[in-house]
Amino acid sequence: MPGSHPPVIVIGTGLSGLSAALALARAGREVVVLEAADSLGGCCSTNEINGYTFNNGAVYVAVPSLLRRAFDQLGLNFDVEVPLVSIEHPHETHLDDGTVVHLGALDTARMEGHRASARTALLRDGLHKLQSNWQPIYRRLLDGVLPFEPSLPRTLAQLWRYLPELGGRADRLIARYFPDPALQAAVASTLLYTGTAPGRLPSSQLIGLLALLEEGFHLPKTGMGAITTALHRALLTLGVSVRYGCNVVQIEVASAGVTGITLAGGEHIPARDVIATCSGFSVVNRLLPSTAVPPALRRTARKAPLSHRAIAVQLGGRFEASSNAFIVNHVPDMDRQGAMHLAATDTPRWLSWTSPSQVLTGLAPAGKAVLELYAPVSGIERAEAWTPAMTEHALETHLAALRNHLPALEIDTVRTLDPQAFVRERHLHEGALYGIAPGANPNTYFPHRTALPGLYLAGQTTFPGFGVATSMYSGLQAVESLLLARRQL
Ligand SMILES: Cc1cc2nc3c(=O)[nH]c(=O)nc-3n(C[C@H](O)[C@H](O)[C@H](O)COP(=O)(O)OP(=O)(O)OC[C@H]3O[C@@H](n4cnc5c(N)ncnc54)[C@H](O)[C@@H]3O)c2cc1C
Repeated sequence: MPGSHPPVIVIGTGLSGLSAALALARAGREVVVLEAADSLGGCCSTNEINGYTFNNGAVYVAVPSLLRRAFDQLGLNFDVEVPLVSIEHPHETHLDDGTVVHLGALDTARMEGHRASARTALLRDGLHKLQSNWQPIYRRLLDGVLPFEPSLPRTLAQLWRYLPELGGRADRLIARYFPDPALQAAVASTLLYTGTAPGRLPSSQLIGLLALLEEGFHLPKTGMGAITTALHRALLTLGVSVRYGCNVVQIEVASAGVTGITLAGGEHIPARDVIATCSGFSVVNRLLPSTAVPPALRRTARKAPLSHRAIAVQLGGRFEASSNAFIVNHVPDMDRQGAMHLAATDTPRWLSWTSPSQVLTGLAPAGKAVLELYAPVSGIERAEAWTPAMTEHALETHLAALRNHLPALEIDTVRTLDPQAFVRERHLHEGALYGIAPGANPNTYFPHRTALPGLYLAGQTTFPGFGVATSMYSGLQAVESLLLARRQL
């Protein structure tokens, strides 16, 4: 019953925080939801500027079945709450020799250029074999692993027979299924979002391509923010409101465990349980008194590999696209794609962008379009070493590169989010986009339940917290751990 337990504090209103708050409220627990920003949604939200809707993080939905299931667990009908539009032409890759590769559902995948029809057959054959061989892995991950609290015995029981396939490197797997270098380059470019070269990623990262083949890519009808807005709507119906502008600067601890939090303004809110959905690195390095950090958490914070940083360059204006693809890549061959993750000193030859208004025209004023790209950031140890001049340079060089591909580009609105803006506005630790580097071993992530009584973690630095659907699960799993722990006491 509400009131019979002290309130639980949830830090953050991204997908994981809203899911956790909703699960707690449904379990009859009183919840205090604190958000440092002045609006909700974290990395799954949008901002409207001059009539253009720009993403604040996630750009598309890859595994809608998992989202449906997470919503269902919260008593919500996803298809009613968040109607989706399927992206019909999701992925187009251009190579230096003029070859164009279109990736999507098997019967839409095709190639343009030299020997187009023979190579289209090769492409479809490779995709078909990959899909057939990996479908059981995909299903087991979705049905038997990701929705549950991470556990090595569970993962092994579900996936042991696929370990040889999962254990290799992404580039080798790609080369095995796709002998043609152009096809390799196109398939490898589905991994660009990771910020890591295909030769340094485990083959399990190809699950993103499987998601494209199995379920397609999608956008909520009104943009990515519709998902967090729907969760917030449900929270309000349970009488829980969010406190905005509440930057938690300390998690208070006494000998028996957590005793509450302190906000930037000095306000103290007592609580016995806190679910922190901000980065695990921030919890360890900033929010906990250093004497209270459990040694295992300290080790995780020291060893876990930070994900990459990048500058979001978001443009509103008029451009004549040569195609209606959502993701457009201009890439070198697979072995050289790692270079695309290094900051360029000059106009970059290769780049990748998305255009959400190709799918949802309402995201831009009539006749205009939204185009978003991520310019790489490299060569800095800390986000604070990044300077506005570096952002200016990256903007200039990337606009020049874009104009090489879209000569008729007329820009009227520009928004950039550099590593410091990602820290300041999205509260991402060190501006690292995904918290922990994609492809890192699951046991390098932070746990949902910590050794400090009353402290639970969720979000993208916990496993499987990265991604729209899986970050919801991390919130749900942190709540399960909390309720279980409280029942055991
Ligand atoms: C650039 C980018 C592109 C992405 N693209 C995709 C994609 O296309 N598809 C996909 O599936 N996934 C994508 N992702 C991943 C996905 O968006 C995230 O994994 C997910 O949204 C993270 O949700 P979260 O709740 O864990 O964290 P967040 O959304 O970061 O939420 C954390 C919240 O906590 C708040 N907060 C932080 N510190 C404090 C504090 N001290 N006090 C109070 N509040 C605090 C923050 O303001 C924020 O609102 C992308 C992520 C990024 C950054």
